[in-house]
This record gives sequence, structure tokens and C-alpha cells, in this order.
Amino acid sequence: MDIDTLCIHGSDIRYDTTGALSVPIFQSATFEHPGVGQSTGYDYSRVQNPTREHLERTLARLENGVDALAFSSGMAALTALMELFSPGDHIIASDDLYGGSRRLFDNVSMKNGLKFDFINTSNKPEIEKSIRAETKAIFIETPTNPMMQVTDISEVSRLCRERGLLLIVDNTFLTPYFQRPLDLGADIVLHSGTKYLCGHNDTLAGFLVVADPGLSERLRFIYKTTGACLSPFDSWLLIRGIKTLHIRMQRQQENAIKIARWLCEQEKVRAVHYVGLPSHPGYSVSVRQASGFGAMISFEVDSEKTALRLLENVKIIKYAESLGGVESLITYPILQTHADLPEEVRKLKGINETLLRLSVGIECVDDLIADLTQAIEVC
Ligand SMILES: *Cc1c(COP(=O)(O)O)cnc(C)c1O
Repeated sequence: MDIDTLCIHGSDIRYDTTGALSVPIFQSATFEHPGVGQSTGYDYSRVQNPTREHLERTLARLENGVDALAFSSGMAALTALMELFSPGDHIIASDDLYGGSRRLFDNVSMKNGLKFDFINTSNKPEIEKSIRAETKAIFIETPTNPMMQVTDISEVSRLCRERGLLLIVDNTFLTPYFQRPLDLGADIVLHSGTKYLCGHNDTLAGFLVVADPGLSERLRFIYKTTGACLSPFDSWLLIRGIKTLHIRMQRQQENAIKIARWLCEQEKVRAVHYVGLPSHPGYSVSVRQASGFGAMISFEVDSEKTALRLLENVKIIKYAESLGGVESLITYPILQTHADLPEEVRKLKGINETLLRLSVGIECVDDLIADLTQAIEVC
């Protein structure tokens, strides 16, 4: 089945006999047993709930996995994932990550005894150099947040196979609509469902998707034990959001390409990081491994003053954290998403006072460009 159809009909299990097209919201914490030792298949909503199950099956099919687990946020999904590892285990992670992931690794996972090396995962020799006897996994984002570095998923997955490591890919930026890491050899896909999958900036969610039944079993045990599950209502919002994922992604990308090209021509813009520009260093790998470039752009302006004026003067584009929704949002990584990074790490990656990140929505692109024009002109 084509992904456009899967977004709408990803799970066809029916939970009631009324013929309702919209999956019911099973707002129930517990389920009555038909008899002693018997179960309807649902016992307690932390373990499974029919609304959440419908969503999980949809996402598993979209990512071509055997199982998907829906969490209360992306960070809840990542926290649960870290429970696969034991003190002393070593993980190689990308040095340009969502700020919250890096904060979790630096402050929680390390305290729990895990060890990390943060490197440029676009560079295979650098990965090989970092592998030690205790290395258990490689964690990547591609493209990365906020600098849009691209890692070759197939190449890293072959390395992981050879060395017996798990490959974990945060696929939040491209979603299964544009990129399916499990098909390229990854073991686990992580999502902040809050972003494109939900798509409306109205709820938090997170996912882990796996291709291996054994891994699914281990994660299901962690899931029911630690309990950061997605509520039935939020599951329903995600089901509804995903029904339009394909058309939102197409429109957001179409707008992003036009805006990226426009930004390249602006005098006050020094650099534009968008994977869909042929000048981007990750362009050819992107073309090979993904069917699209997404709608995240970061760009550098000529001064801190220009950056601040832009943030203060945009009207349609909202100055707000987050990304992926129908509304275009602009963020200032240095003060928002990446504020907790050690300063030297930020500097090294180029996350400075002049860097802005734009999540392009589905508004009319002419209105978005007019908004940026008036905001840049007042600068
Ligand atoms: C937002 C985000 C997360 C964290 O997800 P939440 O839903 O905010 O907890 C993780 N990774 C990436 C790439 C993100 O953009």
C-alpha cells in the first residue's frame, strides 16, 4: 500500500460495531475481565489501550517496523530507550543533536553510568575511531538539529552490523513520509511525535519503532514498567494528525524550498542551511536515502542585532519553540532549544547569536516571504 493511503488507513482493526470511521477514544484506565484468568486483550491502559494501539500499528506500518510504542513525549521515548543500556555501556552520538537529547545524555544517562562520545557522525572514519569494546549503540539524527548535517544511514548501519552495535535514528525531521531508516538498516527509530506526525502544534507525543521482535519485547517490558505512555485522547489527536501527514509534508517542503532560495538572495543573510539546496554538503546523500528534504531551514544573518529584530518583527511567522506544525515558527537556538549546551560545544557547531531556525508551515508562501521581507527591512 502506498504511504499516502497508509497515513489514512494505516491500521484497519475495528474496535466496535457501530461502523464509526473515527477510532473511538477509549477513555478507560482499566478493562473488565470476562472470567478468571481471561482477558479481552486489554487489561490496563499503561500496558495497552485500543486507541493507542491503533496509532501504534499505523506508525509501525508507516516506518515499516514490527512494532511502534507511543510515549507521552519524544523525551519520554528517549528516556525509556536508554533503559536498554547498563552502567559502563558506551554510546556514540552525533555532536549536533536536539538540545534536549544532549541534555538527557549529559545529565541523566551519564549519572546512570552510561558513557558517550559526541562526534560528527557524517564522518565514517571518526565513528570507527570511537568504537570501543563497551560500545553498544550509535545514535544519530539526520538531518541534525539545528545545523542540518546529513549522515549516510546505510553506511553507518553496515558498520553497526559488522561490529554488533544498535543503530538508533531520530527521524523527527523527515518522518517516514520522506525517510524510512529501518529500511536502510537502522534498528530503532525515535520520533518526537509532537512535531510533523502530530502536525498541529497541539499535543506532545513520542515514538520508538523497531524492526526486530526481540527488541520490541524488551522495549515493551520497559514501557509497561516505566509508564510514560500516551493518553487515549492524545493518541486520537495523533491518529487524526497523521491522516494528513503526506499532504502537509509535501506543502511544507514546497514552501521551504522557495523560502530557502529567497533567503540565499538576501543581503543580510550570510548562510542558509537547507538540505534541499544542491550546495548543501549533505545533498547527494539525502537524494540517495530520502525521498524529500523536509521543511527545516537554519540560516545565519549578518549580526545579532539583525537576528533579534527579525525575531521581534515577524508577524505571521511565530517566534516560538518547536517545529513541524502547520504554523511556521522561528526559533533562536542559542536562547531556546540549545541553551543548555556547554558554550564550547555551541561555538564549535556554529550555534551563535546570528543563527536562526525556521520551521516552514503550510501558509501561502508569498505571505511568509512578505512577512520575512518586512521583518528584515526594519532590521
Ligand atoms: C522535539 C524533539 C525531540 C524531543 O521531543 P519532545 O516531544 O519535545 O519531548 C527529540 N528530537 C528532536 C529532533 C526534536 O525535534
